[in-house]
Amino acid sequence: MTMDPRSLHDISQRPELSVVVPMHNEAANLAPLLARLIPVLRSIDQRFEILFVDDGSRDDSFERVRAAALTEPRLRAIALSRNFGKEIAIAAGLAHARGNAVILMDGDLQHPPETIRDFVAKWRDGYHMVYGVRRDRETDSVMRRWFSGGFYRLFAALSPTQLPRGAGDFRLIDRKAVDALNTIHERTRFTKGLYSWIGFKAVGVEFDVEERADGGGSKWNARRLFSFALDGITAFSTLPLRVWTYIGTVVSMLALLLALYFVAETLIWGVAVPGFPSLIVSVMFFAGVQLITLGVLGEYIGRIFVEVKRRPLYIVAEEIGQVSATSPLSDQVEANS
Ligand code: UDP
Ligand code: MG
Repeated sequence: MTMDPRSLHDISQRPELSVVVPMHNEAANLAPLLARLIPVLRSIDQRFEILFVDDGSRDDSFERVRAAALTEPRLRAIALSRNFGKEIAIAAGLAHARGNAVILMDGDLQHPPETIRDFVAKWRDGYHMVYGVRRDRETDSVMRRWFSGGFYRLFAALSPTQLPRGAGDFRLIDRKAVDALNTIHERTRFTKGLYSWIGFKAVGVEFDVEERADGGGSKWNARRLFSFALDGITAFSTLPLRVWTYIGTVVSMLALLLALYFVAETLIWGVAVPGFPSLIVSVMFFAGVQLITLGVLGEYIGRIFVEVKRRPLYIVAEEIGQVSATSPLSDQVEANS
């Protein structure tokens, strides 16, 4: 399919569905994936494209896509210059996908292509975001399940953005929401949080996670998972910075209570160890004052942190009549195209 550059902006030329697949050393999985995915897409709508994002594979994943594209012109691919990680690969895919709806899925067939039918059905019902919810996590190790459960609880406690439990990157995203995600430029991209942050009408669809087609293991090791979790929490919460104000206040209050106790003790029983009460009270009090000071710094750093991310102020989901924005706040997204 030859596309002149203008057709990108011409809605009538858009494919109905784009399937975006990030891949890192998935050469062995490509043929089985296409064999299942293409018939499913054909049965939904002939106007589709499949966009592979090769995230610095060291095997011949990209060459195999090139070969497959000879017989299936609806295949497209971009190759990143090195391994940037899945989050960035997804961002690149969303920026290059042209469909009215974009479906994100893994390249290892853990996300069953047949579920896309349910996604599209919900999308046609008017949902802007349809996310896959894994029915169980049996394919994951006990450690990983335990870690993931703990992470969701911690995230819910720390961040005002709520993540639906068990939802991952397997999802359908309407063009409006894709355009909104494309306006988010922050570098530490915790995409799971961004899906929730942008809002829009969302619904979950259950699916069974399958084994990896090639029988290989996950490309995520414990260290990567941990740093992923830390990225998620720090990108969506400033609480760890600011909590010191509260802790410091509590410590200083305790110091004052302790001082009162020492005064009472001295009045009733007399002095036990001279100098000890005043020493311990002042150490504790000033420790508290220092924590408060750190907390105040945290308050400001937290605000700087939120500002430098330059997320759009708001995202418009729907318009009635011509109400295109004329304000100087040109940062916001006109999600209604
Ligand atoms: N992936 C990627 N870049 C990476 C690691 C993984 O694009 O640095 C892709 C990978 O090819 C697959 C998807 O992200 O399509 C999910 O990866 P994986 O199966 O290793 O993760 P898990 O299933 O354990 O979440
Ligand atoms: Mg996988």
